[in-house]
Amino acid sequence: MLPYNFDYYKPRTINEAIELYQVLKSQERKPLYYGGGTEVLTLGRLNYVYTDAIIDLKGIPECNVFELQHQNLIIGSTLSLRVIEENKLFPLLSDTSKEVADYTSRNKITIGGNICGQIFYRESLLPFLLSDSTVIIAGPKGTRKELISEVFHKVLRLDEGEFLVQIVTEKEYLKAKHISVKKRKQWDTGYPLLTVAALKKEGFIRFAFSGLCPHPFRSIQMENILNDKSLPLKERVLISLEHVPSPILNDIEGSNEYRLFVLQNTLLNILSYIGGEEHE
Ligand SMILES: Cc1cc2nc3c(=O)[nH]c(=O)nc-3n(C[C@H](O)[C@H](O)[C@H](O)COP(=O)(O)OP(=O)(O)OC[C@H]3O[C@@H](n4cnc5c(N)ncnc54)[C@H](O)[C@@H]3O)c2cc1C
Repeated sequence: MLPYNFDYYKPRTINEAIELYQVLKSQERKPLYYGGGTEVLTLGRLNYVYTDAIIDLKGIPECNVFELQHQNLIIGSTLSLRVIEENKLFPLLSDTSKEVADYTSRNKITIGGNICGQIFYRESLLPFLLSDSTVIIAGPKGTRKELISEVFHKVLRLDEGEFLVQIVTEKEYLKAKHISVKKRKQWDTGYPLLTVAALKKEGFIRFAFSGLCPHPFRSIQMENILNDKSLPLKERVLISLEHVPSPILNDIEGSNEYRLFVLQNTLLNILSYIGGEEHE
């Protein structure tokens, strides 16, 4: 239960959702787009989120698409992580998503909510950063298609009244060699101490991280070092650690030093698994 009252709307089209948001806003209301509702309920109970009008996006057909169209995989923002985990159209995304929260929560948590929510791990974003995916965003000024690397800087940059409709990934990335490793402080579920996802394209390994900093990221600088075959694997890893963006998290899940220690071993294991190849 939330400690405040709210109206609930379930628009059937993108335009209806946007217009509704605008009308509510003009009436000095506090509308909020809604996917699975787990974060709205969890943070709302603690008064960290307030809304008096929920706009549930799950009735919009474009937000429920999960299919291959021509050369792309289209993923609607209101698909639950469980659906993504079970339909292995994008195996790296399935592997990363199935480690988020617990099975019951993944029935509710949507991919859009995971990427756009306040809880900063956003682990499902990592495969999209690695595959140069594009996002379809709808808002009062129309619909825009943007490279995820252009619009994701610590958070997905959405203007007032905009929402995430779909994520589009080129087919060629779906079967690329990949790995996703999540390390927790303890137990089998919970927030990450560290999550690293890696994908190999044309012999070059890409890396994206969650749980290391207060936002997920992909670092081209770290990738270049980790792929430098003139250096032994261990040296590459040690040098790459110098380029982790700051601040490194230092919290209840683990200290910053411990995170770097775990990262070092994780990167070595990933390079060995995915084929970092030692120098001659
Ligand atoms: C018990 C629990 C465990 C968790 N564990 C993990 C974890 O291990 N790893 C991890 O990465 N995350 C974890 N999370 C975070 C979780 O993924 C996010 O809280 C996510 O927002 C929940 O998705 P939802 O669909 O329920 O979002 P909602 O509660 O519906 O929405 C959350 C926020 O996102 C916005 N939003 C939702 N959909 C859209 C959209 N399509 N466009 C624009 N804005 C949108 C809403 O306006 C709202 O502000 C956990 C959360 C819970 C509650």
